[in-house]
Amino acid sequence: MIVSHKAAQAAARSAHARPESRAQQLPDLPGASGRLFIDLDALRGNYRKLADRVAPAICGAVVKSEGYGLGAAIVAPQLEAAGCRDFFVTHLSEALALQEHLDPASRIFVLNGLVFGTEHIFAERGFIPVLNSLVQVEKWLAHAPARGARLPAALQFDTGMTRLGLSIDDARTLAELPGLTRWLDIQLVLSHLACADVSGDPTNQQQAARFAEAARLFPGVPRSLANSGGIFLDKGFHHDLVRAGIALYGGVATDMPEVEPTPVIRLQARILQVRSVSEPVGVGYGLTHRTTGPVRLATLGVGYGDGWPRALSNRGAAWSGGHRLPIVGRVSMDSMTVDLGDLPPGRLAEGDWVDLIGPAQSIDDVARDAGTISYEILTQLGARYQRVLIGGQTAQGERQ
Ligand SMILES: *Cc1c(COP(=O)(O)O)cnc(C)c1O
Repeated sequence: MIVSHKAAQAAARSAHARPESRAQQLPDLPGASGRLFIDLDALRGNYRKLADRVAPAICGAVVKSEGYGLGAAIVAPQLEAAGCRDFFVTHLSEALALQEHLDPASRIFVLNGLVFGTEHIFAERGFIPVLNSLVQVEKWLAHAPARGARLPAALQFDTGMTRLGLSIDDARTLAELPGLTRWLDIQLVLSHLACADVSGDPTNQQQAARFAEAARLFPGVPRSLANSGGIFLDKGFHHDLVRAGIALYGGVATDMPEVEPTPVIRLQARILQVRSVSEPVGVGYGLTHRTTGPVRLATLGVGYGDGWPRALSNRGAAWSGGHRLPIVGRVSMDSMTVDLGDLPPGRLAEGDWVDLIGPAQSIDDVARDAGTISYEILTQLGARYQRVLIGGQTAQGERQ
């Protein structure tokens, strides 16, 4: 018997969905020395802006790697409340953790596709594997008759990034495969742009052309090419569905100067200790910073164990109001030291908070100082921060 996959999927999901778990309960970390504010209104606002920009194409959300470090269970229901119905994660385990926080009707795509031996989990839960190779397609196809139902699938083509996906030749082979659409309900064909953040890069057009060539082999199947960067390229890149990641979370997604990201997070560190030194001293491991004159130093309770990059040793800064407080010495696992400079004595004391990411210093500023990208800064945000939610809605649309 062939059951429509929608019905099977909905049944499978409602069996696992626990609506009460959609309420957001954050672990309380008493005495945490770092805190991460997440502005849920800004997050939903970012989603709406992107969705409006790409309409009539649909805006999906990429919530892999714990929703870019913010917490997938925190961000996904907010995005759903803002209208998102299509979610992308990388691993099956991420899909499993996410599902109970979403409406059974929302789709969950798993970008890494099938790991062999997990076919039954995908099928039971209704997850959509993004099939990246002919072997993955074969395994998924082989599983379908046993279940007596068409299985949902997405196909990814490699159009020039050389990372994951079927080649154009593979796509041709597939398109001619008997039984493909009898057993697979192909809901999306997609590809990923290597240089979407560089708006003038000619590679974007080349990949778009190759994508069109592959997608044409699967007529009528919705198409997806753009990540955040692709959203800011011209409309031709939007196709039917875009996959927004970094732009949702307040990172810079494009080199177009007119596109200003709206920040979603603020990160603060607690001052563990303040000291005034007058004699020359060395600071931190290796004593890589040595004071010269009299200074006031503050030790902050955030280090590389919290994902604050060690590369910011003697380079980066914390901020208090409009004051830049340079990091002196090496960033330790659990702490770092900043120079309080000309801040009036008494202005900051043990127990006070300073900004690591905030109005004066964006995630992209931090990334630049650390020689990396905002994605890495976000996804390293550790579990030791007290996460504090600002604003937001439940999935039912009520204020919290
Ligand atoms: C991570 C990822 C995205 C999102 O990319 P952003 O640049 O964060 O928008 C989209 N598609 C695929 C396949 C990805 O791996």
